[in-house]
Amino acid sequence: MRVLVYVLDDLKCIRQDLLQEVIKELENYLKVKFFVEKFFGNIPKDCYNQRRMQYNAERLLSFVKYLNLNYDKVISLICEDIYVEGTNFVFGLAEINGKYCILSLRRLISINDELFKTRVFKEMLHELGHCFGLKHCANDCAMRFSNSLFEVDTKNKYLCEKCYNYIMLKLENLRNQT
Ligand SMILES: [Zn+2]
Ligand SMILES: [Zn+2]
Repeated sequence: MRVLVYVLDDLKCIRQDLLQEVIKELENYLKVKFFVEKFFGNIPKDCYNQRRMQYNAERLLSFVKYLNLNYDKVISLICEDIYVEGTNFVFGLAEINGKYCILSLRRLISINDELFKTRVFKEMLHELGHCFGLKHCANDCAMRFSNSLFEVDTKNKYLCEKCYNYIMLKLENLRNQT
């Protein structure tokens, strides 16, 4: 299992060392290998909504899909604000049981490094959790649905036992297949 953290813009909103720490922690928690790559080039213009001054998350996902990256899971990161039709904004978007997800760090920013890292960890875990097949969870769990920063901050940083075991079992089955 190889997970790619795909940096879509210059990611000015987060310090490199903070992001590295979050990725290390995710690696240890999920017991899978993470890689980081940067996208060089221009994001297609039709991904950006001029009127809303936000990026369309679905179009961004389609664009990254089209690049056909050679990893098992790909989480794209961007500092720009993102949305899907019918919402003011979304923190992230994922294909349930799929390969691709995206997370915007814009609304997670904090001047408190620890808080910022915790938020990024939670939301990366949440979106990747969807890619591993998890749906929203009613327990005190990182897979609980969160639509506001308050909900992000009050939910558990980690997965509940049920969700964690689900992912671990899935990864174990994948290892046994190969
Ligand atoms: Zn979700
Ligand atoms: Zn759960």
